[in-house]
Amino acid sequence: MCQLHTGHKNKTVWIVVGVAGGAVLLAIALLLWWWLLAKRPSAIDSFNKITANWQGKTIALFLDYDGTLAPKVDNPDEAYMSSEMREVVQELASLCATSVVSGRARDKAESFVMIENLHYAGSHGAEIKLIDETEAYEPARKYVPVINQARERLEEAIKEIKGASIEHKKFGISVHYRCVEEEEQELVKKLAKQTIKGFSELTVTKGDKVVEVRPKAEFNKGFAVKYILEQLARKNNWDSSQVVAIFIGDDKTDEDAFKVLWKRVGGLGILVNKKRKWTKASYSLEDPAQVQKFLQMLLSWKKKAEAEV
Ligand SMILES: [Mg+2]
Repeated sequence: MCQLHTGHKNKTVWIVVGVAGGAVLLAIALLLWWWLLAKRPSAIDSFNKITANWQGKTIALFLDYDGTLAPKVDNPDEAYMSSEMREVVQELASLCATSVVSGRARDKAESFVMIENLHYAGSHGAEIKLIDETEAYEPARKYVPVINQARERLEEAIKEIKGASIEHKKFGISVHYRCVEEEEQELVKKLAKQTIKGFSELTVTKGDKVVEVRPKAEFNKGFAVKYILEQLARKNNWDSSQVVAIFIGDDKTDEDAFKVLWKRVGGLGILVNKKRKWTKASYSLEDPAQVQKFLQMLLSWKKKAEAEV
């Protein structure tokens, strides 16, 4: 009886050890799988491979600004791009359709880049202005009145809380609480959420000490890339199968653009990051200095290709 009991106990121990061991092995395998898949080859080292089939193709180039063309800095108002970077982008823009696609307001992005012959998409694609158009395409324009109304309610809701402030953007509202006393920060978040509940067209996301309010409308960097490609194809009679679209960006919001290009034949996403990251980009560059080097290689390649035609 006692032997039977001990045998049963041993069996249970072995099952537990087996399951635990299996779980550890599975975790290691998953980690290895992630480690291998998250590695993206360098766009510089792979340049010849990347451009191998590009002869005769039209290039559409899309560039994020912060962390891509300009290094990230503590004060976003001081995120300047170098004159060398400006020169190469400007020269490329005369040979390829080039767009800057930024999370910043369009006029802000334009004032930093200071290149005229570019298409600009600002506010994550909520305002897109093509070179030859006088008016910007604003997919969220119809939400401006409701955003203004929500802003007034938010101002009313948080007016008693010291340090809370509201930043009004054309297509969104940021409720900042970085300067609010610690014990009142939760209250700001709660009041903002409660207020926006009354606006079915708006949605709330959390940032770093900020509540972001934006329309539920579908716009992001992926939509912006699609829209610009469609417009350029229509205006220039492009055969879309002969267009190579490249997006270079460093941020989470750039993944929307990488996703679009991942699915597209002739799409190329390049992530700017030193670390391994789960991404839909196909290649990587480490920092804006490498972005500049890649753009210079692209410019030389394009000039050579034009000369051979
Ligand atoms: Mg960026």
